[in-house]
Amino acid sequence: MSAISAQRITPGSTCKVLKQKVVYQNKSFTCIKSGKKLVWSKGVAVKKATPTPTPTPTPRVEPFVPWSTNFDIDSLIKSAIDSTDAYAGVVRPDNFYDISVQNSVMESDRKWVGEMLDYTNGFFSTIDRVKLRVFLGNSHEWSKETLRGAGVWVGDPNGKYPCSADGSQDAYCAGYNNLVLLIYLNPLRTGDIGKRSTPAHEVFHTVQHSLMGYNAQRFGPGHPQRIPTWLMEGSANYFGFYMVEKVGLGSYVNGRDTQVRLNPEYRNIMPLSTYDNYQTNPYGIGQAATEYIIASVGFENLLNIFKFSGTEGSFLAGFKKATGLELSEFYLKFEKARKFMQIGS
Ligand SMILES: [Zn+2]
Repeated sequence: MSAISAQRITPGSTCKVLKQKVVYQNKSFTCIKSGKKLVWSKGVAVKKATPTPTPTPTPRVEPFVPWSTNFDIDSLIKSAIDSTDAYAGVVRPDNFYDISVQNSVMESDRKWVGEMLDYTNGFFSTIDRVKLRVFLGNSHEWSKETLRGAGVWVGDPNGKYPCSADGSQDAYCAGYNNLVLLIYLNPLRTGDIGKRSTPAHEVFHTVQHSLMGYNAQRFGPGHPQRIPTWLMEGSANYFGFYMVEKVGLGSYVNGRDTQVRLNPEYRNIMPLSTYDNYQTNPYGIGQAATEYIIASVGFENLLNIFKFSGTEGSFLAGFKKATGLELSEFYLKFEKARKFMQIGS
C-alpha cells in the first residue's frame, strides 16, 4: 500500500493522483475529480476477507515427556512406536534364515508367518546374529521328530515335546541356539492377534539372546546379569504387536488391549517388580513398562539394557547405563505413572 495510507483521509479533502485508491480505517477511498479539484471520494466500506473455513483439526497428541508420571496414554504409545520406527529406518524384509515347515501347514499360514519373519529379520539387520532357524508346524509329534532329526532341542530337555509338557496347546518358543519354534495346532482361520504376534515375539527373544552373547547362563536363576521376566516378556510382547501393525495384520492398540488394558489379571495392583516369574502374568504389564522405557529413552536404549547387562557384568549396571536410572528409581516412577497406562482398567 502506498505511503498515503499512513495519513489521514477525509472525504472531500484534496488528493493528487486521479483514480488512486487508498484504504483507510476500513474504507476504500478513490481520488476523484470534483469540478477542477481532485478530492477523496466519500469512501466505501471494505469487505473483510471471508475467513477460510478452519479445517477439522487432526487430534494432536502431546509429545511424551521422558519419565513423566502424568501423561496421556496415546502420547506414551505414539512416542514408543515413533521411536521404534526411527530406530528401524526403512526396513528391507530379509528371508536370510532357515525354515522347516510341516507339510500340513496351510499356505495362508505359511504366508503371514513368512511376512512376519522376513520383516523382523530385516528390522534387526544391523544386529550381529547367528543365522536363525525356524520350525513351523501343526503338531508336536512333527516338532519332536524334526528337531531331533536336526540334532537340536528347545525347552525342557526332559520334556515330552519341545516347549510343551503334554502337547495340548500351541507352542511358541525361542532357544538360546538361535532357534524359533512355532507350533499352531490349528490353522489360523481367525485373525487372533495374539497368535499373529508370535513370530516377531519369538525372534525378538533371539535378539535378546544375541545381545547377551548367546550365553544361556546369563538368563538363569540367581545370575547377576539375569533380566527380570517382565522385561524379557514385556519387550518381546511389545515388539510382537509392533510388528503385527507394521506387516498389516492388525493394530498395535488392539493387541495391547487384549494383553494389557482388558486383562483382568491386572485389576489387583501389584508392583511391577513382583512380575518376575510366570506364575503372575509378566507379559502385559511388562509391555506397558517397555512402552514407558522406549518412550523415555528410545528403542535403541531398550536394546542396550540387554547389551549392557552383558558387558557391564550385571543387569542393575546395564539398566543404569542404558536408561540413566537406577532400577529402584525406575520402579518408583513406574508405580507413580501406571494409573495413566491403562493396565487392566
Ligand atoms: Zn516370550
